[in-house]
Amino acid sequence: MKQRILIIGSGFAGMWAAVSAARLAHLQGNTTLEIAVLAPQPELRVRPRFYEANVASLTADLQPLFAELDVRFIAGHAERIDAGENGVWYKTSAGEASFLTYDRLIVASGSHLHHFGIQGIAEHGFDIDQLETAQRLEDHLNALPNQPDSAARNTVVVCGGGFTGIELATELPARLHALLGEETKTKVVVVERGSVIGGRYSEELRNEIVNASAALGVEWILNAAVEVVDAAGVTLQDGTRIESSTVVWTAGVKASPLGENLTAERDALGRFIVTPELQIPGYNNIFATGDMAHAKTDDVGNTALMTCQHAIQLGKFAGHNAAASLLGAPSLPYQQVNYVTCLDLGAWGAVYTEGWDQQIKLVREEAKKLKIAITNELIYPPKANREVAFAAADPLAKFV
Ligand SMILES: Cc1cc2nc3c(=O)[nH]c(=O)nc-3n(C[C@H](O)[C@H](O)[C@H](O)COP(=O)(O)OP(=O)(O)OC[C@H]3O[C@@H](n4cnc5c(N)ncnc54)[C@H](O)[C@@H]3O)c2cc1C
Repeated sequence: MKQRILIIGSGFAGMWAAVSAARLAHLQGNTTLEIAVLAPQPELRVRPRFYEANVASLTADLQPLFAELDVRFIAGHAERIDAGENGVWYKTSAGEASFLTYDRLIVASGSHLHHFGIQGIAEHGFDIDQLETAQRLEDHLNALPNQPDSAARNTVVVCGGGFTGIELATELPARLHALLGEETKTKVVVVERGSVIGGRYSEELRNEIVNASAALGVEWILNAAVEVVDAAGVTLQDGTRIESSTVVWTAGVKASPLGENLTAERDALGRFIVTPELQIPGYNNIFATGDMAHAKTDDVGNTALMTCQHAIQLGKFAGHNAAASLLGAPSLPYQQVNYVTCLDLGAWGAVYTEGWDQQIKLVREEAKKLKIAITNELIYPPKANREVAFAAADPLAKFV
């Protein structure tokens, strides 16, 4: 009887886990392993690009790749892991409850934006966290020209000045002018809790964010917290009022709640604290990966971030190790020493840094070219060709 590796999620981590497990089975000459991916759609949704326009195009069909590698795709939404029975309860796309057993389980169900219970944000706010919500924002922006001209119509408030908030805010001036006309006085305001712009980044990188914001006319309100969002705008905790038809929440991400019933430690972001092999301690046949895994990247104290840069590599290691544990092959402790940052800064350009201390290597047009190469090519699925996909899925092959 075939043994099954069940992977929950077809994002960066889940997709690469499947390819990597298939690669090891191929290398071992094994044909008795079933690799199955359970996810709502057989597609990779390219979340790092959701600040861009034309969001519906930002998906990649995984069916040709899975067919080429004999990866089984099951359409559904996992509801509960039953570790005692080695199985997963899920809802099929028809809404029926179903159960699937596994010999090894890889939890790659990603993350979701967290609203922190801010009043009015769910009803009146927008976000770019998932394809559907980014589409809702795009539809709303495209409909702004139908509203009467007003300061509120022409103002977008971006709540949160982290990576996503910065990329969206610096992209928006050009998008708003294209929609509302070059003559229209538009305004993009970032509301940020911290006391400096880009406070989580190196000083060099912060300076470029400041330069880009100034050049593009993006305003920042620092030391500020959102109190309430309503249909006409946002009120901050100090009473400041900003009239705006478009308030976008970007601050705070939490790992998927899947696996909450497992007796396992999670970090403040809801990620499982995993072993070097990416197993959930106490559950030798369950692995967590991508945004679901809190994993050490090196021996000097760095930890994987919730980025696709880490999710891709975490996926390759999880797939390899799950397959290795069934095939009697050596496992590979997860390691990812290199770390780069490539931050899009809209019409101003981009900044590319290397290392955890974020030393700038490229700025403006040069960095922008690299950003486009990363987000339009590097992070997309490999070609549906065994040789190409398996070479790319080697956990030890150079990535960045
Ligand atoms: C706007 C935005 C900008 C970003 N920019 C960058 C960037 O510039 N650089 C960078 O490195 N990272 C960036 N990220 C982060 C990056 O997108 C994530 O870290 C990455 O997507 C994580 O990959 P993942 O496979 O763990 O999860 P995801 O990509 O979220 O995939 C999760 C998968 O699990 C499926 N799933 C979820 N729940 C279930 C369930 N219960 N049952 C079955 N399937 C389920 C989903 O449908 C999906 O297929 C950005 C994210 C956002 C939202």
